[in-house]
Amino acid sequence: ETLTNQIAAGEVIERPASVVKELVENSLDAGATRIRIDFVDAGLKQIVVQDNGTGIARDQVDLAFTRHATSKISNEHDLFKVATLGFRGEALASISAVSHVEILTATEGAIGVRATFSGGNKKGQEDAAARKGTKITVRDLFFNTPARLKYLRSPRTEIMKIVDIINRLALGYPQVSFTLSNTGKILLRTTGNGNLKQTVANVYGRHIAEGMENFSTKDNDFKVSGLMSKPELTRSTRNFISILLNGRYIKNFQLNTAIMDGYGSKLTARHYPIVVVSIKVDPLLVDVNVHPTKQEVRLSKEKELSRLITTAISNALVEKVE
Ligand code: ADP
Ligand code: MG
Repeated sequence: ETLTNQIAAGEVIERPASVVKELVENSLDAGATRIRIDFVDAGLKQIVVQDNGTGIARDQVDLAFTRHATSKISNEHDLFKVATLGFRGEALASISAVSHVEILTATEGAIGVRATFSGGNKKGQEDAAARKGTKITVRDLFFNTPARLKYLRSPRTEIMKIVDIINRLALGYPQVSFTLSNTGKILLRTTGNGNLKQTVANVYGRHIAEGMENFSTKDNDFKVSGLMSKPELTRSTRNFISILLNGRYIKNFQLNTAIMDGYGSKLTARHYPIVVVSIKVDPLLVDVNVHPTKQEVRLSKEKELSRLITTAISNALVEKVE
């Protein structure tokens, strides 16, 4: 059981950034409006994620750490309309299989609980005073799977991956305030006032935010909106293109191409725009159940969506020239 847990954990938890992603997605699914993330030693020594979401009821904590236990879908039909970021019920079980975890959580008006798990086993639980919300502390990641440590890159790169994840989630949730710090030193803080341009300013800097324009469009299936850089303001990597599908950051080659096509000949070779595009769609049109890390999704009507995005961007560029 411990071994299967460790193997399964390897699927979901590859590196400190995976822990951060899973914990913060849980906070978002719990309706948090404030999320604080701190890490020590590139996340290997400690990762803390604290939110003001719903919290977990005292008698549900064990279940939350059980593999394949999720409160988010209840039958196979729900799989066709996943509206939350999580749904596999694997993250907490996987994380606790490869680290020491402490959870402090409380639901509205209830007594809180503190519980500890280590290497996949429960170590203890006690009542504890806590405000509504959840604080999870992950220590000594991969302490019992040393081989995993060998796959990690330099601390600098691992930190970059954490920052990248939080940047994208912050861009997808401008109504949520994120604070990311490295051993107490603030790396990112978003206001959470719902303004995407403000969030872009927090993430990429004011200069970039000011060089960006709003665009939006919709058809019967999709609502598309976002911010796009003017063609003069480009970067030498695609990394500044963020596609958020119902709040989930996705990687999708087709949609990337659709964005580039919208700029057409206005982009010089090997120059990429800075774009944040948020797509709202009926979850029935999305199959998120493709890969555990869930960054790839299968989309019905991908061609239609591509055309919609290309047109929205090229129209926005034409409007500015006139
Ligand atoms: P999943 O997100 O796929 O359901 P997880 O292992 O990530 O699986 O979480 C298991 C369960 O624990 C969730 O379904 C949810 O009920 C609960 N949970 C986890 N994190 C939080 C949180 N920050 N706030 C409230 N509930 C949480
Ligand atoms: Mg989850």
